[in-house]
Amino acid sequence: KEDVIATVDMARRAMRLIGSDRQRVYCVYGPEVQAVYDSRDFVLINFKRALDDGDIKPFFQPVIRSLTGQIHSFEALARWNDPDRGTIPPSQFISILEETRQIHLLDLEIFRQVCQLQQSCQRMGLPIPVISVNISPVDFNSCDIVAEIEKIRNQYQIPSKYLKIEVLESVIVSAPDQLKEIIAQLHDLGYEIWMDDFGSGYSSMNNLKDFDFDLLKIDMAFLENFTENSQSKIIISEIVDMAKRLGIETLCEGIENRSQSDFLKEIGCQYQQGYLFAASMEPDELRNFLGEAGQQLENVSLSDYYSQIDRVNVLSNPTHSLAEQNSSLGENIDVPMAIVEKDGCSINYLYFNHALKRLLAIAENGQAVSAENLAKTPSVDKFLLEQMDRCQGKSQAISASYEEGGLHVKIRMRWLASQEKSSFVCIVTSEHYQE
Ligand code: C2E
Ligand code: MG
Ligand code: MG
Repeated sequence: KEDVIATVDMARRAMRLIGSDRQRVYCVYGPEVQAVYDSRDFVLINFKRALDDGDIKPFFQPVIRSLTGQIHSFEALARWNDPDRGTIPPSQFISILEETRQIHLLDLEIFRQVCQLQQSCQRMGLPIPVISVNISPVDFNSCDIVAEIEKIRNQYQIPSKYLKIEVLESVIVSAPDQLKEIIAQLHDLGYEIWMDDFGSGYSSMNNLKDFDFDLLKIDMAFLENFTENSQSKIIISEIVDMAKRLGIETLCEGIENRSQSDFLKEIGCQYQQGYLFAASMEPDELRNFLGEAGQQLENVSLSDYYSQIDRVNVLSNPTHSLAEQNSSLGENIDVPMAIVEKDGCSINYLYFNHALKRLLAIAENGQAVSAENLAKTPSVDKFLLEQMDRCQGKSQAISASYEEGGLHVKIRMRWLASQEKSSFVCIVTSEHYQE
């Protein structure tokens, strides 16, 4: 009943959808195939108009620093809002724009809108948000991406420390040589380069060896079945441990519950992002939020200070208990450890691991001692403040012991960083009772 040429076209469209999928040997042309091509045609026909009409905008999702719980930065995520079709998610247009080599038009427009928003914040007297922008590796072949983003940044006069560049790891394979050069150029200009979706591609480990990334965004697939599947805990811990040794920061994406978040803090994963904290917000929402954020937002002048503290590897001590590692990794890091901050005469506990909680619970005859309770104990505060003064500015760790009411605790303390405040890592090496 159909025209022969039209029928052959349909068959070819169905065949193309099989692509490189080796599991499929045939595909029948039907409404599903039709829908894929319709949405593809819609993107190809309407993309440039939508960009000009302002239908495509970045939304912003916060990234949290595990250590402080404050917002370190925001990720800009493209949203296409069509007047008729409603919101079109990136999954429906990014890959088509990559295939047709138009993705740089999107990436640069998002980058422009990000800089524009940062400039408007500055003019309104709001804090300038640090924003990470997704750049497709396909862009490297389509234009001089470094020159293009520099042109935009200079136009809006935004210092590069407020911008981070995310490069999707799964596509890196396609452009290895340019990427090395581009990373070097961007570093010289003061940008940080983040590897997005680490672990989802084919050659993650090679990428780490070959490219100089500042941060790994660990793919959210690792968090699937998090509670039941302790294997993901082992894998994430190993990635964080390895990254720390390589001097690369880590961020875990897709955090949806408190237990995932607590685990990541415990193992020293520096940043977290996901629906537990917030979904992405519109530009106006972001501006309103910045007006009210206050303490929730990390002060950019302290970012280096916190990053320096965050370099300490809480997984590096070789005395892990292997026995129970599988069931509750993170809670079994054997070395009781805390990161304490001296702020004038008061002490903040930035980090407090399970081993230390257990040790203190024993010390208090089975009563768990929280960091808050500990901080309220004046004699402990006095002891710690004295030790902090002793080791501040030194590269060597110091030892000291604390005795009170039959309790004997030995600590080793090492200075980590200072800026207005000072931070120290503190390992409790032994404790016992003397009746
Ligand atoms: P991505 O860069 O890895 O972004 C993270 C994605 O995970 C976002 O999806 C975000 O909305 C989603 N997400 C965030 N928190 C959670 C969570 O707790 N649970 C779950 N299940 N998902 C969460 P989105 O916005 O749909 O973006 C998808 C991908 O599209 C991005 O992945 C990125 O690769 C690409 N993309 C987005 N905007 C741009 C852009 O401007 N340029 C380029 N080249 N790619 C972009
Ligand atoms: Mg991203
Ligand atoms: Mg990602």
